[in-house]
Parts: sequence; C-alpha cells; structure tokens
Amino acid sequence: MNPHVFAGNPLDRGDTYRRDQTWLEAQALNSRSRFLPLWQLNVLIQAEPETRLGWVGAAEITRLDLDVPPVFLGLIEDVAHFAIDVSQVGDPRHDLNLDAAWRFEEARAAATSLSSAEAGILAQSRAQLDWHRRHQFCSVCGQRTVQGRGGHIRKCMACKAEHFPRTDPVAIMVVTDGERCLLGQSRGRLARTGRYSALAGFMDQGESIEEAVRREVKEEAGIEVGQVRYHSSQPWPFPSSLMIGCHARALTTDIHMDDGEMMDVRWFTRADVLSALRGDHPHLHVPEPIAIAHHLIKAWAEGDVRWE
Ligand SMILES: [Zn+2]
Repeated sequence: MNPHVFAGNPLDRGDTYRRDQTWLEAQALNSRSRFLPLWQLNVLIQAEPETRLGWVGAAEITRLDLDVPPVFLGLIEDVAHFAIDVSQVGDPRHDLNLDAAWRFEEARAAATSLSSAEAGILAQSRAQLDWHRRHQFCSVCGQRTVQGRGGHIRKCMACKAEHFPRTDPVAIMVVTDGERCLLGQSRGRLARTGRYSALAGFMDQGESIEEAVRREVKEEAGIEVGQVRYHSSQPWPFPSSLMIGCHARALTTDIHMDDGEMMDVRWFTRADVLSALRGDHPHLHVPEPIAIAHHLIKAWAEGDVRWE
C-alpha cells in the first residue's frame, strides 16, 4: 500500500468510455453522475458531519449555465464522476444553493482532512482542471484548442496538433553516510517555516531517476552520491508534479552548498531526526506527513531502507 496523501484514487479512469463522445454527453446529463466543482482551483467540500468532497448533481451544474465542458475523471460502480471548473460564476455557493456546511477550500488544506480515496480524486481533479486553464492555446501554432476525450486531450482545430495533460517528475531524496542524513532548507517556503527537508529537484530531459538524484545532490550540496534506491512516489498536484522518492548513499561528506538555491544544508544524526519526527526536538523541524519527504526521512531514521 502506498501511504501517501493524494495516492489513493479509487476511480476506474475508463479509457474506452472517454473515447465515446455520445456516452460522455449522456453521462453529463445523467442524474446519477457526480460533479466536483472547483472555483479558482479551490475545491468544494462539505465540512459536516465530517469533511468530504462536495459532490453535486447534473441538475445543479446545468443550472450554472457554464460554457466549459466537465472533465471526466472515471467511474466508481458504474457511476460517472466529473470535475468542473466553475470559476466563471461569481458566487457559486449562492448559485448552487449550498448551506453554510459547504465551502471552497484550497486543495492542500482540504487534503489533510479528506479520506485517502477522496484526496486522490482531488489530486486528479485539480491537476486536470489547472492543465486545461493553462492550455487554452496551441503551443505549435497559437490558435485556440478544444477539449476532447472527456478532458484527456486538447486538440487544435487549425493545425490538428493534439496536446496531452502533462506530469512533471521531481526526484526527492534522503542521502545518508550511514548514521547521519543530509537535509536542507531551500530558499522560500522551507526557510520561512524553519523546516529542513529532503533535497529535491525537477528531472531534466534525457535523465534517469538515478542520474537526477546524483545531479541534484551534487548541485545543491556538493556531495557525491553512489547507490540510489527507489522508495515510493506521490502525485503532487501543485500544479502537476510526481514526486519520486529515493534514498541514496553518500560517497563524500564535505558540504559545498549552492547558496543561490539553498539557505542551509546539514548532516543530522539519527537521534536528532527521530526526535524531530516525534515533534520534541528544540530546533529541528521536518515536513508534515502530507509530504513524501516526511516518510522518506522516517523510513531512513527507523532503519527501514533496504540496500540489499
Ligand atoms: Zn495548432
């Protein structure tokens, strides 16, 4: 079981169905179908009695009179599920006639209180709707594109180019020299919150995961890395990353930090890291369990990394 938030999507993505336009149009009007509205990429949730995704029906969506088509997410027990961008409505809570228990919430905050299955559906919904918002025009010829296959493609009617939703792979790694692990504080959010985390960076084109791990650690910390072990992965829909979590063994220990990108990089002992994970370390703070970095750090600290 993958333990990560955003990694529990139960939907059958229905690839054969999404190629059938007649079926899609019928499902968009079917009273059994479920629609998840997002407004400015904030997701509708129902906060009582417990936090759940705010699914609404076809009749409610029809009433909004939107000029964007819904995005087909997939099926659960033959019920079609869609995400829909309602940003063009000024006050969708009013127009959908929702009571005070319903609200639009930022996706990262919402995910921490949703079930694993619903957080997974949220990851797919946010990443897909954001991609459609940012790909209204053809990157080949500049003309307007239109949505196809229930949102799994955008087509340019002028030059016939087809554009597919993108996912951006990020290598994220905990490096160890045996009894210590290498954590860093990048400029920006980590520095503002005072946390140390695993080093990470976008993969380059024409690069293997192992090569990306070695390059990033060399660039950010000046440390040479040998063995690399894959651990697990996490979809991270801000906007469309896939975090590829690894552990790696250091060949050198002298840190030469890239101070353009990093505020600090240090070796921490296992005792310090275990204390930070418990939340009782006086200085060291590590990421919360929503982030794969937490689980990579924990796996190393608890001796759960298999090097063979
Ligand atoms: Zn074009």
